[in-house]
Amino acid sequence: MRLAIISDIHSNLEALTEALTIISAKKIDDIICLGDTLGYGANPRECLSLVQSVTGHILRGNHDEASVDISKTEYFNRYARFAAEWTHKQLTPEEMEFIKRLPSSIELYGLLFTHSSPFEPDEWHYIVSYDDAKINFPLFSAPVCFIGHSHLPGIYCEDRITRDIVPGKKYIINVGSVGQPRDNDPRLSFGLFDTETLKYENIRAEYDIDSAAEKIIKAGLPKSLALRLYDGK
Ligand code: ZN
Repeated sequence: MRLAIISDIHSNLEALTEALTIISAKKIDDIICLGDTLGYGANPRECLSLVQSVTGHILRGNHDEASVDISKTEYFNRYARFAAEWTHKQLTPEEMEFIKRLPSSIELYGLLFTHSSPFEPDEWHYIVSYDDAKINFPLFSAPVCFIGHSHLPGIYCEDRITRDIVPGKKYIINVGSVGQPRDNDPRLSFGLFDTETLKYENIRAEYDIDSAAEKIIKAGLPKSLALRLYDGK
């Protein structure tokens, strides 16, 4: 089974369209979306509908949650809060109902998928180091747990050293962000995983940032949300 794992699209239709074009050119059996389809960008409804058209495996992220229930933005910075409130106004009641019912983690094909972390997945903890990752390994039995949330692609092995995926060890893999990369590389990021060979590949690709950024500004969203796309921050 060849899987594409996408996350943190953040209403960036240009990045999502490019990611799906790359995915459709490869032999992929299934797509899993780890959440934060919404928030920050100018095309929340289009992104949600496009993701729904390619997969039934969609998780809820903290920005999806906040876009439906804006009381959940208290820990957001003012730009993220503004974007959540703006997104909330765009969504139809049906779309909000759909998002509310999404799970924050799923087990599929013998693997675990979650937006933030196996530990308290609805509390949105970040895993950005081995020290963050290590308390999570005893909490799942699958060989690999795929995450998003930090927008920082990375592989954490329970033995702290191994980078290639080998049988008998546990891994937490962050696939990075399709729509708002933050590792100083503005190219979109997602993951491909082969459940038989255990081969994992992090895909990076350029997309039409100009168009995504222009739409953010035209929508009246904070300009900084457009500019950060160019910096990958
Ligand atoms: Zn996110």
